[in-house]
Amino acid sequence: MAIPIPHRQLFIDGDWKEPAKGKRIPVINPANETVIGDIPAATAEDVDLAVAAARRAFYRNGGREWARASGADRAKYLRSIALKIKDRTSELAKLEALDSGKPLDETSWDLEDVASCFEYYADLAESLDGKKRTPISVPLQTFKSYVLKEPIGVVGLITPWNYPLLIATWKVAPALAAGCTAVLKPSELASVTCLELAAVCKEVGLPPGVLNIVTGLGPEAGAPLSSHPLVDKISFTGSTETGKRIMTAAAQLTKPVSLELGGKSPLLVFEDVDIEKAVEWAVFGCFWTNGQICSATSRLLLQESIAKVFLERLVAWVKNIKVSDPLEEGCRLGPVVSEGQYVKINKLISTARSEGATILCGGGRPTHLENGYFIEPTVITDVSTAMQIWKEEVFGPVLCVKTFRTEEEAIELANDSQYGLAGAVISKDIERCNRITEEIQAGIMWINCSQPCFCQTPWGGTKRSGFGRELGQWGFDNYLSVKQVTEYVSDDQW
Ligand code: NAD
Repeated sequence: MAIPIPHRQLFIDGDWKEPAKGKRIPVINPANETVIGDIPAATAEDVDLAVAAARRAFYRNGGREWARASGADRAKYLRSIALKIKDRTSELAKLEALDSGKPLDETSWDLEDVASCFEYYADLAESLDGKKRTPISVPLQTFKSYVLKEPIGVVGLITPWNYPLLIATWKVAPALAAGCTAVLKPSELASVTCLELAAVCKEVGLPPGVLNIVTGLGPEAGAPLSSHPLVDKISFTGSTETGKRIMTAAAQLTKPVSLELGGKSPLLVFEDVDIEKAVEWAVFGCFWTNGQICSATSRLLLQESIAKVFLERLVAWVKNIKVSDPLEEGCRLGPVVSEGQYVKINKLISTARSEGATILCGGGRPTHLENGYFIEPTVITDVSTAMQIWKEEVFGPVLCVKTFRTEEEAIELANDSQYGLAGAVISKDIERCNRITEEIQAGIMWINCSQPCFCQTPWGGTKRSGFGRELGQWGFDNYLSVKQVTEYVSDDQW
């Protein structure tokens, strides 16, 4: 059942604030193309206010209120946020499904992960208290050294629409846990639940300015944030193209960035597998979240000897995927997020067709759905490595398939990509799986599965998929700087 989109303002300095230019962006339900609400559109003036608020919060009371408060004090807020999110999980999951088109089951799981992620970083914030000063052994006894871990400062967090609140949480939770203050700029295509996070922060009494949330368009709100001289670090998740712009802007101020970008991840399936189980992972790995996952295993590499039977079973599975309004019971695939994505994905499919690829199933609009940005789950074969569909990220429900004969050939095909986010291998031969995980150029490898993600394990890519890691201790260290302290301890005179 649909629920109304709350009417919210920008969240700056602990309060709601009308955007300086008074502009708003419509929220379109991708399942029926109707306007269901709107979000505020921030511009540079609003970003300035948000950054100023974050700076005040960082330094207020000599930093003792947030940056230099104990980790345990900050953890209390993170736990309160987690609790409020848990209380509102079902409502927030519905809002996110309406806003993004993701099936309700999936947004519900995402919301559970949001709460767990806040709790996980609350634990790490507490653990920081005992580890703030780490002694370092130096070769001269006249000196004593240690490193001090300190929050980096004010951080700008720019996020995409495919996991609207979860990816924002991957940044907000460790940043706040570390003692940073932040300005979050979510995607204009799915900001609704991030604005609800603002409401939650207000309810739990998070000190003003610790987290500011400015919604708006990339060039109008994201660009002024990434080039802001008073922002100490940018953490970005989004497309490789935007990542390049962010890095260029940050370079002008030698500002550190971490970039989580696009992907075109391979799934390698060997002939010794249980075909039914492997097909299930292939379907899950590519079509989960409507295929709009950075790590989607969207290039399927099949050992030639099982290709025919595998593809028959795959097509049967794919044809069975329930495509419907994301709020409908049992929905497995909703619409893609926007008209822009709908047009882009359809174009990539038609280009593949015109370049000689075979659309084994799908490739168009489901006949039972008249409105909405729906695309059938699509499997494409007869793909060459020169084709756009092989090389470019589709970010939609499209799987392209190639076959291989040998392990070496499979590895070569898997690494034939500008991207290096994730990869997966399915085989009963664990030695082979371990060998392959070392050979594949990627930041994440799955063995006999695809897509599981835990907030304890590092997340991020290589090559044009970006650099830096989120989640786990690595995600925490993103927001901490290391200060070397060396003391002269000898009584000797100079
Ligand atoms: P996008 O690059 O279009 O937008 C991401 C964010 O950047 C949005 O908030 C947008 O408003 C903002 N932005 C746009 N132009 C900007 C500019 N000039 N300056 C500053 N900010 C700007 O990406 P998207 O379409 O929202 O997300 C899809 C992409 O994200 C895919 O490529 C996907 O692979 C990637 N992604 C990567 C990961 C990962 O962990 N590696 C996770 C999720 C999504």
